[in-house]
Amino acid sequence: MKPEFVRAGLRSLATPVLTPLERLADLPPAARQLVTAGVLRLADSKMLIEDPLTPFNIASHPQSATETPAAFGREDRIERIIEQATGQGLKPAFHNLMQEFAYTLIDVCGNPSQQALVADWLSRGFVGSYLMTDAGGPGISDWQTSLREDGGQLYVRVNKLWAIEAHRAEFLLVVARPQRGFLPLTFLLDPARVATLDRAPVGQPFLEGHLQLGNVQGEVPVFPEDILKQGGLAVVNKALTFARPRFVRALMAHLTWLETEGRLLIDETDRSLVQCVVQAADTICARKSFTRESVDDVLATKYLANELLLKLVVSGCVEQAGDERDLLAFSKMEGSSYRCFLELYSKHKARRS
Ligand SMILES: Cc1cc2nc3c(=O)[nH]c(=O)nc-3n(C[C@H](O)[C@H](O)[C@H](O)COP(=O)(O)OP(=O)(O)OC[C@H]3O[C@@H](n4cnc5c(N)ncnc54)[C@H](O)[C@@H]3O)c2cc1C
Repeated sequence: MKPEFVRAGLRSLATPVLTPLERLADLPPAARQLVTAGVLRLADSKMLIEDPLTPFNIASHPQSATETPAAFGREDRIERIIEQATGQGLKPAFHNLMQEFAYTLIDVCGNPSQQALVADWLSRGFVGSYLMTDAGGPGISDWQTSLREDGGQLYVRVNKLWAIEAHRAEFLLVVARPQRGFLPLTFLLDPARVATLDRAPVGQPFLEGHLQLGNVQGEVPVFPEDILKQGGLAVVNKALTFARPRFVRALMAHLTWLETEGRLLIDETDRSLVQCVVQAADTICARKSFTRESVDDVLATKYLANELLLKLVVSGCVEQAGDERDLLAFSKMEGSSYRCFLELYSKHKARRS
């Protein structure tokens, strides 16, 4: 067994990812190596050129509970969907899981009339889609989806990519750059306005034809009552913090199913990594309230899950090309390794000894 990596020099960049994981799970040496190897691969030019590479000073302090409960009333249904993914894979479970996450978002961020609208559309079988990924790139200052005013009327110009089932969406949640400032605004668009937007499928579907992504472009008028702002923007983050560890658990359930089907060969080291990811996600899901560390914990857990999916594909353990593509795609969805690492690094880079 190789010795554990020391956290000096470049390897110190792994600390913002390792510290949250250490408070969530018993990390086998392979998990530390995986995290560190990923960080060394992902370190960008700015980090390599400008970072002092001194040790991070992130206390693995006791969890500090905030007043916000971490339960949204959908936990039992989501548990049943994850169980289904363990027995049958993500294919039959995926859209149900996404629907539960969408309901969670509307429940916590929508006002009663927005919640009623969405409930009505869903009861009529309408398809919804959440448009976050922007054609302008990840930085909000570059987003092409933005607001413009003309004669006292606000319009949202939409140029969004790669959203689940967006090509056939009948109502939309669109995250846009505001006219002033950098806090994104989320708009709920009704079927009449969505019908005027250009919606097109993009790329081949995932999960054996079961999951298609789409792009959306165009411009529609918007009104203040379209904005999802119940509880403030921090609540959107809480909904994502609720969804992400459950998505990670569903991904690990999918791996279990692939193995059962003989489509994934897994050795003892990989098994210990799957168990570690499950333990970390379970620890987060078992919490009764959000803590100051919750966002870090979720990002670090998604990062480790991503790196495990990548490792399985790179090492040739996945039998079918379609499964390989699915696993790498899921390593991007809901937080790629680079975005998770960058967010953790950026938050903690000032805390150096
Ligand atoms: C199956 C699936 C479902 C999805 N569903 C939705 C959805 O419903 N709604 C939606 O809005 N989006 C959705 N997406 C899109 C998803 O959110 C994005 O793919 C995700 O945010 C990752 O962004 P990225 O692909 O640009 O890759 P990232 O790896 O996050 O890259 C982001 C940016 O950082 C740069 N970068 C990456 N690595 C480095 C590095 N080491 N150094 C410097 N720069 C780097 C890249 O060039 C890029 O500009 C989905 C994607 C998939 C695959």
